[in-house]
Amino acid sequence: MQTVFHPTQLEHNPAREFLDGRWTDYLESPRRPRMILDAIAQAQLGPIVLPDDFGMLPIRAVHADHYLDYLQSAYERWIAAGRSRDGVYPDTFFKPGFLYRPRGIGGQAGLYAFDLSTPITAETWSAAYWSAQSALSAARMVRDGAPAAFALCRPPGHHAHADLCGGYCFLNNAAIAAEYLLKDDAPDADLQKGTRANRLAILDVDFHHGNGTQAIFYRRSDVLFVSLHADPDRQYPYFMGGSDERGEGEGEGFTRNYPLPAGTDDARYLATLDEACACIADFAPRYLVVSLGVDTFGGDPLGDFALTGDAFPRIGARLAQLKLPTVFIMEGGYAIEQLGANVVGVLSGFAKG
Ligand SMILES: [Zn+2]
Repeated sequence: MQTVFHPTQLEHNPAREFLDGRWTDYLESPRRPRMILDAIAQAQLGPIVLPDDFGMLPIRAVHADHYLDYLQSAYERWIAAGRSRDGVYPDTFFKPGFLYRPRGIGGQAGLYAFDLSTPITAETWSAAYWSAQSALSAARMVRDGAPAAFALCRPPGHHAHADLCGGYCFLNNAAIAAEYLLKDDAPDADLQKGTRANRLAILDVDFHHGNGTQAIFYRRSDVLFVSLHADPDRQYPYFMGGSDERGEGEGEGFTRNYPLPAGTDDARYLATLDEACACIADFAPRYLVVSLGVDTFGGDPLGDFALTGDAFPRIGARLAQLKLPTVFIMEGGYAIEQLGANVVGVLSGFAKG
């Protein structure tokens, strides 16, 4: 399996974030992709290649122009306004009931972000841009016939809405890859296999709910969004991810959430994954996009599940049983010492499965 990654993705490196009542070192650090790259090389999973540049068009297919303008100019405007060089950190957040949409950078920071874990530094835009290009390149490999490809996206993407950043995410890489694949015409061979050309499933196995991805496709029937995650009554991102969220309008029935309790172990997780996979098989999509987070691991500092390292190859093997062309998009995972092994576990489990 090929891995796609661009070194510019390492340059986004904020000093800190606000978590649990205090400033802490930024958990979504450049060490994460380095550990994953080392593990991929050591396991000889396959070549690590640079992404091609698909430009802005496939990014604009998912994100609002005004949001993209904001992301690209925010740091410069912030510095011009005399604010801290550490990065764009909002000090207020826009809420329903507020009336004014400010044009200045101070207010816009709180308009476009929903937490303090997504600071914008001088390097953020280019890192997020190349992270999205990695997703697109992996999607094209799969479109061109590879059974699977891995986009080592970083910054991650599944918390980003069409016009919101949050949870370390700026551009929704999984949604960008999905839109790219949906625009593709169906070769006859795929139709004969019984899969439907205009349908695609996104399975999100990150510990946290993929609120951004859900929101982007919530009113759509051509994309099935399925997510296994921590119950939002207990865990971030809190305001989405309930089992009663099932899509809206034309999208009714095309969102499926599986919120899980603290302490979820291998057996409970894999049984739920079976249900999720059955739901995907029923939908008969042409492609599968997997938002791959491994913060479900028992030792993860941001999670409260109890998955062991053994669960990850089994997750990969279960996904392989779907027999769908699959694009893996990297999302979270913060237990830095085991991160590489857990990611490689899923990918090699899939390759062998
Ligand atoms: Zn996560």
